[in-house]
Amino acid sequence: MYKISLITGDGIGPELSESVVSVLNTIHDRCDLKFEIQKLLAGDIALKQHGKALPDPTLAAIKNSDVCMKAPVGESAADVIVVLRRLLNLYANIRPAKSYPGMNSLKNDIDMVIVRENTEDLYTGQEFELNGAAVAFRIITEKASEKIAKYAFETAKIRNGKKRVTCVHKSNVMRKTDGLFSRVCASVAKSYPEIKYDEMYVDACAMNLIRRPESFDVIVTTNLFGDILSDESSEVVGGLGMAPAANIGDNFALFEPVHGAAFDIAGKGIANPSSFILSAKMMLEWLGKTHNDRKCFEVAQKLESAVYGVVNKGIKTQDIGGTKTTLDFTKEIISLL
Ligand code: ATP
Repeated sequence: MYKISLITGDGIGPELSESVVSVLNTIHDRCDLKFEIQKLLAGDIALKQHGKALPDPTLAAIKNSDVCMKAPVGESAADVIVVLRRLLNLYANIRPAKSYPGMNSLKNDIDMVIVRENTEDLYTGQEFELNGAAVAFRIITEKASEKIAKYAFETAKIRNGKKRVTCVHKSNVMRKTDGLFSRVCASVAKSYPEIKYDEMYVDACAMNLIRRPESFDVIVTTNLFGDILSDESSEVVGGLGMAPAANIGDNFALFEPVHGAAFDIAGKGIANPSSFILSAKMMLEWLGKTHNDRKCFEVAQKLESAVYGVVNKGIKTQDIGGTKTTLDFTKEIISLL
C-alpha cells in the first residue's frame, strides 16, 4: 500500500485531480497495486480559507506520505511549490519531452529530458528594493551544481538515448554564477567518459529546440532557464497539456504537471488531464525504483500506453486538436487500462 498525498490545487487543478484519482482508483481495483490517497489543500484556495498557502496540516500530511502528487496552484505558487522543493530538498526537476504517434510534434524522433536544478538560482526569493532599484540575488552553489550534474549524467547513462549531456547556461554574461555551474558540470563529465558532453548558451538552446529538437538527449541547466526551456520543449512535442514533471530528492519526490493553473479554461471541463496522469506514470516509476517494485514499472508502462493509445486513435481534448471533455477523455484512458 502506497500512501499518496494529493494537493488538488487551483484553476484546472481540481478537475485534473479528479481525473488522476479515478485513474489511480482503477489501478487500485484492477491491478495488484494498492494506494491510499489523501486530498490536501494548498495554494490560493488554502490562502483564502486558512490564511496560508501551505497550511501546516498539509505539510505534515505530505511528510507523512510515501510520495506527493501536486496539481497546479495559482497566484500563490511560489509560496507552495518553491517552498516545498526547498523544504523537502527536491533538488532535481525532471521534464521529459518525447514525440508520440498522433501528437502534433515538430519532428517524429524527439526524445529528450530536461534536468533542471530545483533549489537555487533566482528562485531563492532574495529580492529587495533600494533607491529606485529592484535587486535579486542569483545563487548558484558548487554543491547543488554537482548534485544536479551527477543526476543528469546518471540519467543519460540509464536512458535508452543518445548518451549525451548538454549543459545550458549563459556564462558569457553571468561569468561568476553560470561560470561556476558550467565548470562544475564539465568537471563531473570527466567521471562519465561513456557519455558525450557539450555546452550551449541558453539563447542558442532555445533556437535549437525548434531547429533540431531531435539532436538533444539530456539537458542540464539552472532553475530559471529550465523553467522556460521546458515549456518550450513541451510545446515542441505537442503541448503543455501533455507535459509531466517530477521533483526528486534523495528520499522523497513530488509529481506535477509542467503547466500552471490555466484559469482561462478552469471550470469548463475541457482541460487535458494527460499532464497529470503522465505525472502519475512518473510517480509509479519512482515508487518502483525506490521500493524495488516491478509491478509499479509494469503499471507505469500500461498507463503511458493507455494515454497515447487514446491520443493515437484521434480521441483528444481541445488543446491538442480534439473535442473531448476532461471526463470523457479520462474514461477512454481508463477503458484501455
Ligand atoms: P505558470 O506561470 O503558473 O506556469 P502560465 O501563465 O504559464 O502559468 P499556464 O497555466 O501554464 O500559464 O497555461 C498556459 C496556457 O496553456 C493556458 O492559457 C491554457 O489555455 C493552456 N493549458 C495549460 N495547461 C493545460 C491543460 N492541462 N489542458 C489544456 N490547456 C492547457
